[in-house]
Amino acid sequence: MSGFLKLLFRNRLAAVGAVVLGTILVLVLITPLLPLKDPNVTDTANKFIPPFTEGHLLGTDHLGRDQLSRLLHGTRLSLAVGLAAAVIAATLGSAVGIIAGYFGGRTDNVIMRGVDMLMAFPYILLALAIVAALGPGLLNALIAVAAVNIPFFARNIRGITVSLAGREFIDAARLAGKGHTRIILTELLPNVLPTIVIAMSTTVGWMILETAGLSFLGLGSQPPVADLGSMLGKGRDSLITDPHTSIVPGVMIFLIVMSVNLLGDGVRDALDPRLKSGALSRPRAMTAVNRKGPVPETDDKGLLNIQNLETQFHVGPRVYRAVNDVSLHVKPGECLGVIGESGSGKSVTALSVMGLVASPPGVITGGAVRYAGEDLLGASYKSLRTKRGENVAYIFQDPLSTLHPLYRVGDQLAEAIQCHHKISDAKARARSLELLRAVRIPNAESRLRDYPHEMSGGMRQRVGIAMAMANDPDVIIADEPTTALDVTVQAQILALLDDLRRERGLAIVFITHDFGVVAQLTDRVAVMYAGQIVEQGRTEEVLSRPLHPYTRRLIACVPELGGGRRRLEAIPGLPPMVDKLPRGCAFAARCDKAQDSCRAAPIALSRDGDRAVRCLFPEEALRKDAS
Ligand code: SF4
Repeated sequence: MSGFLKLLFRNRLAAVGAVVLGTILVLVLITPLLPLKDPNVTDTANKFIPPFTEGHLLGTDHLGRDQLSRLLHGTRLSLAVGLAAAVIAATLGSAVGIIAGYFGGRTDNVIMRGVDMLMAFPYILLALAIVAALGPGLLNALIAVAAVNIPFFARNIRGITVSLAGREFIDAARLAGKGHTRIILTELLPNVLPTIVIAMSTTVGWMILETAGLSFLGLGSQPPVADLGSMLGKGRDSLITDPHTSIVPGVMIFLIVMSVNLLGDGVRDALDPRLKSGALSRPRAMTAVNRKGPVPETDDKGLLNIQNLETQFHVGPRVYRAVNDVSLHVKPGECLGVIGESGSGKSVTALSVMGLVASPPGVITGGAVRYAGEDLLGASYKSLRTKRGENVAYIFQDPLSTLHPLYRVGDQLAEAIQCHHKISDAKARARSLELLRAVRIPNAESRLRDYPHEMSGGMRQRVGIAMAMANDPDVIIADEPTTALDVTVQAQILALLDDLRRERGLAIVFITHDFGVVAQLTDRVAVMYAGQIVEQGRTEEVLSRPLHPYTRRLIACVPELGGGRRRLEAIPGLPPMVDKLPRGCAFAARCDKAQDSCRAAPIALSRDGDRAVRCLFPEEALRKDAS
């Protein structure tokens, strides 16, 4: 609850709305206790007294009734009716929406067509028709306002329910033998409740306004009882001669509706998990760069050279140090493997190269990324966009989210080529066909006309690989590209990438969890842990003689075909959260060799030629060898 309030009051407009609405609510709640005049007692001798007159702070109306007293009593009534209408509409509308969405089929059709018929009428006309049928009066106005808002809730909640009703947890509840009522109350309702609260908070202002509108037309509260709408309606007759009779209730309606809407928007943002994490804020076209220190001097190590890269995620007061002082390079024709557990910073490092980390919340705070000597972190968006796909291409992990679901794969491949090269559609199509054949897609010609959903996971992955190769890039960054493939296809794709780098001098950065792939494809390997490189070296050296305890234990987790019977030791514990990194070695909590000195201060990366390790006590065997 305190977290919700913190999020709510971080939005200044919502805080203003809460203060204004809170003040009004307190005033109307204590109204019966205040020494006010009777709101209905007339005194025609003192009619239209202007505000700030002694005994009448807000003046009097056309019958000499005290405006302040009528305003507070009227506000009390308007708020009560508006809130009651909102609760009734939300309850009935949500119930209708949940039933339609959960049962689906004919039930859904019958209910929703009824709702559509109601929505076909302009809602204010519908409210007028209902009051005309029931007769004027505040209770009838409440019924009318609630009734015209039921379809709004029903439509909203039905949409959410439909998306939830087919989910696995609902199936699991059914299989567990729960009845429909229990599933609706215990599984669906808790999930749709935030949406109901959000819809209510953003519509209650409207309902107060609609109630006031009906009273303004004389269909709501009846004399002598005052509500804001009827006060405004009566004040209209003397708008020119005595404007205070209209201005006073008008300002109150404005304050209530504005404060309710501002607070409602704040509640919606604080309750919506996507909005509060900033996921719906539109990311920039390239990652924000805010380097704190100087740009490292170029050391001309490779075609792609990442130097002391630091990438962070700033979420509210938290700073997630996802990539921390990472240096990697890859030469033409070379394959560099990057390996580590999930969350170790491999993908963020790869995405930082071409400024693809979503900003906000991602920020590159230090280091340099050089392609052929040019610092990409200081490059303009135009220059970066030209290089994306043309010089440095990506094969992403999840092909389903990489490919556009509404376009045929052939069109997407052709578009990727025509973005960088002015060639005819026929040539682009021919090149697309060639690429699909190159990644061993059977019946490539007919597959060009497929949509992504018509292909299997492995096929889509191969289309992703074809797309990365579309413009003959110099560097390919492959983020676990073969995870979704079966071993035969995986072997074919690895052989294809291997051929490409040997024939065309393609540089590959290959991110993977799989030591088998590392051994088969890569020349050098970098092991990442908690956003840092902990070991780097030539692949055969790292695999045969790991220096860092983490690398040793990662390798020990891999079963060896024909290697005899042995226990596969999982690494105990979990990697540290990157917003709470320990002062010393990040692996200390899981390391069987940790000592006090490991925890005392940050551990530097010690280098010896190609080999580098971030450990105070590297493996004994190698130390002996080294000596
Ligand atoms: S520095 Fe210490 S805790 Fe860290 S990996 Fe080396 S031995 Fe283990």
